[in-house]
Amino acid sequence: MIAEIIVDVLSSQVDKVFDYNIPCSFDYLTEGYRVLVPFGNRMIEGYVLSIKKTTDCPPDKLKSIFQVCDKTPLILPEIIELIKYMKDKLYLRLLDGIRLAIPSQVKFGDYKFDTTAVLDDDKVQGYLATLSKRQKNIPLLIEYLENTGKSKLSVLNSKFGSANVKKLIENGVIVVSKSKINRLAKAKKTQNDIKLTDLQKSCVKDILKSTDKPIVLFGVTGSGKTEVYMNVIENVLAKGKTALMLVPEISLTPQMVRVFSSRFGEDIAVLHSGLSVGEKHDEWMRIYNNEAKIVIGARSAIFAPLRNIGVIIIDEEHDSSYLSDSNPRYLTHDIAVFRARFNKCPLVLGSATPSIETFYKTQTHQYNLTQMPIRVNQKPMPKIEIVDMCNEFRMGNTTCLSTKLLDKLDEVIKSQNQAILFINRRGFSSYLMCKECSYIPKCTECDANLVYHKDENVLKCHYCGKKFRTLTKCPECGSSSIKFGATGTQQVAELIHSHFPDVKVFRLDNDSVKTKNSYNEILSAFGATTPSILVGTQMVTKGHDFPKVSFVGIIDADISLFNYSYKANETTFQLVTQVSGRAGRSETAGEVILQTYVPKNPVYLTSINYDFKKFYEKEINLRETTKFPPFAKIVRVLLTSEDDDLVKAITHKFVLKLKDFRVKYGEKFFFLEAMKSPVNKIKNKHRYQVVLRFDTSIETDVISEIYHELDTLKNNKLSVFVELNPNSLS
Ligand code: ADP
Ligand code: ZN
Ligand code: ZN
Repeated sequence: MIAEIIVDVLSSQVDKVFDYNIPCSFDYLTEGYRVLVPFGNRMIEGYVLSIKKTTDCPPDKLKSIFQVCDKTPLILPEIIELIKYMKDKLYLRLLDGIRLAIPSQVKFGDYKFDTTAVLDDDKVQGYLATLSKRQKNIPLLIEYLENTGKSKLSVLNSKFGSANVKKLIENGVIVVSKSKINRLAKAKKTQNDIKLTDLQKSCVKDILKSTDKPIVLFGVTGSGKTEVYMNVIENVLAKGKTALMLVPEISLTPQMVRVFSSRFGEDIAVLHSGLSVGEKHDEWMRIYNNEAKIVIGARSAIFAPLRNIGVIIIDEEHDSSYLSDSNPRYLTHDIAVFRARFNKCPLVLGSATPSIETFYKTQTHQYNLTQMPIRVNQKPMPKIEIVDMCNEFRMGNTTCLSTKLLDKLDEVIKSQNQAILFINRRGFSSYLMCKECSYIPKCTECDANLVYHKDENVLKCHYCGKKFRTLTKCPECGSSSIKFGATGTQQVAELIHSHFPDVKVFRLDNDSVKTKNSYNEILSAFGATTPSILVGTQMVTKGHDFPKVSFVGIIDADISLFNYSYKANETTFQLVTQVSGRAGRSETAGEVILQTYVPKNPVYLTSINYDFKKFYEKEINLRETTKFPPFAKIVRVLLTSEDDDLVKAITHKFVLKLKDFRVKYGEKFFFLEAMKSPVNKIKNKHRYQVVLRFDTSIETDVISEIYHELDTLKNNKLSVFVELNPNSLS
């Protein structure tokens, strides 16, 4: 028999499958096994993708599998199917699929063990009798074990001396056993006495029924979606099945994990990029060995080796982190739909602000819909008030904080409450500019404007992280009048501090969250301090439940509204709703101020009333007339290489081929343009992109033709990425 094997060679741009002979001793081999195979003049790891009877490879060239690495196949048949599907439908390399399915750096079988010692009671008395009076430590050790029953070997060694311990083991007085331990500690289940509301009950029922197609759980912030998820999972576990639960970002996981852990205890495995390699190994193996019934994790957890899945949940399904924007690029929903179909189980997409594309599918009956329009505790949604910043400017206020917002903060402080200020930009200011000659400093590697970071007094590139000395004088014209661009988190925090020097101000953004724990540390410090103010990027908009937060200020809502993405309106509506939802969650009523230069913009007028349906109606009409998703598909093909001429030439060739599409598909083909990427260079790789937009009715044909053309243009010196409906085109 012949095995088709994908070999794990990092440097290879070419994603090729090789045929190998299966020796008789390995005739049990099936797809998914990890094997060692001869490749060139060395042995490398590979994975069996399929088994077949014949090969085109000439017999003298055909090599044999050298070794099978594990007792069972590491990749489940379902995931093998998925990887093949991702190659065909999403233009992802098989090897990238493997990398998603198998945790990187993990050495399989690398368990951590605890050695425990117990006494062999039959031997104790006899042995004690042989001891001389001088040996005090041994009787003490035996007494200690008699009292404790058992002990870690390491504890005995340090308490009583390892020579003594060794002697007792040799004489059989102490019996030692090894047991696997989990590197990631698990919480114990606690009693739960929450009774679901009728609304929640009916959502649970709808979800459990929805095995034919995905179901959207549309519930306002504070409507109790988490409780619905947990109840669905309880139902599923009771049927002997498993559950997969995704949350937007690694930063959100700890909170959700805490809530879930107290409900489900050791049944949970957690997967996210913040785990150590050892922890990742243990969690992955617990899932693989059916020891964990529930997986909670960020985007990549959708590839968890979970069997017999009874429900897949994507919480905050609108969140942009579900769309991977670096290689390999995929939308988590697509993978989830595949796995839900494979397992014939419900797929729940939960949100207070579903994405336009997702909600459109509920309106066209591709998805089911279930709703919770009110908060669990019946509390009203916080009142949102728009403040016109042009007006502020006219009245002589040139700062980014309106008088009204400062008044509100004053009230918050007086009443010993808390406030959250949201500004969607980290750093101190977006850029620096010479007022005389309009020179703007850029990163030398990335062709991107540098961002000023005041606390470190440096300019930073947000694409590659490189730091540069800040400007005191313009290098072009020598002028020393340097202007700061739009406001960032640091600047807001500093301004607030100058207004309220006695109040504690916390900052939450990618710069203040430096380590695995700092996110939680900042949030718990904020939670424990009253009065206090939290300033942050969209990190502050997510899922937090702080009862003392009575006020939310949106400093510059226009940042996302004027973004050039077709999703700008949608993202802005989501941000306003989500961040407002952080206010007034318990006793104190919540208030929100939204600062903007365009107070009449319909996105704001619908979002201040939490009127998602009205916003949706407007937006879906706009998308239809302007021919954007879900009525069109946007494809971005990104070509990168260190060789500028090469990537330019290939991009050109590719576009020439695509020009035929215009003729072939006529007016269903809306747009084709090749250009330098807005950020033309990242880490010294030159980047070109081809953007296409066409009617969804020709989607299948066009996409497969694009893939076909790319296959013929492939080159070792070039990387090609394809994105479908990308979030950003930079
Ligand atoms: P959402 O995710 O929809 O914003 P949460 O799931 O965070 O809402 O729920 C908001 C709050 O309501 C939480 O503190 C939760 O414990 C509480 N809660 C949810 N369901 C119930 C219920 N049936 N009875 C009492 N409290 C509930
Ligand atoms: Zn850079
Ligand atoms: Zn200048």
